Amino acid sequence: MDKQKEQKAIDRLRAFEPNDEPYYLAYSGGKDSDAILILAELAGVEFEAVHNHTTVDAPETVYYVRSKPNVKVNYPDISMWQLIVKKLMPPTRIVRYCCSYLKERAGTGRTVVTGVRQAESASRRERSGLVNILGKPKTAQKKAEELGAQYAVNKQGGLVLNNDNDEARQLVEHCHLQHKVMVNPIVDWTEADVWEFLSHYGCRSNPLYECGFTRIGCIGCPMASKTARYKEFAIYPKYKENYIRAFDRMLEHRKELGKPASKGWETGLDVFRWWLEEDFRQITFDDLKNNETE
Ligand code: SF4
Repeated sequence: MDKQKEQKAIDRLRAFEPNDEPYYLAYSGGKDSDAILILAELAGVEFEAVHNHTTVDAPETVYYVRSKPNVKVNYPDISMWQLIVKKLMPPTRIVRYCCSYLKERAGTGRTVVTGVRQAESASRRERSGLVNILGKPKTAQKKAEELGAQYAVNKQGGLVLNNDNDEARQLVEHCHLQHKVMVNPIVDWTEADVWEFLSHYGCRSNPLYECGFTRIGCIGCPMASKTARYKEFAIYPKYKENYIRAFDRMLEHRKELGKPASKGWETGLDVFRWWLEEDFRQITFDDLKNNETE
């Protein structure tokens, strides 16, 4: 492991540590969050590590997180299955309401340490820097200009800082009570850096990695690839059944509210197959006949 990179991440954690409260360390149960947990301990900063249980985490992740004595688990007041009925549609790549209900509400008004790495995706490169100030923080922008801090505004309207100089520190200090401030100490690490670091400190991370998983997240997450979702539902058929049941209840609820089922859905299984980007309606002889007469 590149010791310089490790030291840089430790220095970053020390530089942005809030004076008046511990960091909120967002612990997902994946390798990147293991890395920030170890780094926070090495840096000697005050932190509160929290895992937000989504109700669709893999059982292995639930057990792994529970095995971490310094991680607190937050249970949501609504499950994914109830949310689907309430929102009248499945969560999709574009409408990720589950993330905002089950994951992103936590840590508001806190300085949050995350394991976000830019190498993970192009959208992460655009959205994330060493520090992100979320939302549309007009006051933060004004303050950044006053301080002469170098910043960029991402598509979501958040401020992205890539330096950990005095201006950036002062800006974080100024903003952390009004906004959600994310500090990403391993933003420039590669996947190999993370594994080398964990192996150096004797952490094997979530056992799912040893079962061939490359990403730890919710079972069936619409942000995952189709292949990954198929694999997850083959391994966890109970989750598939629960989704189909939730989609059935969602269709019932739409009926009660007088809302027609969109996309020709008739059953929870239709919704499930649409959700997995399958052609859920088989073409029947009648369909062909109707097409011919049109
Ligand atoms: S399923 Fe995906 S989009 Fe929904 S909460 Fe989980 S990670 Fe977020």
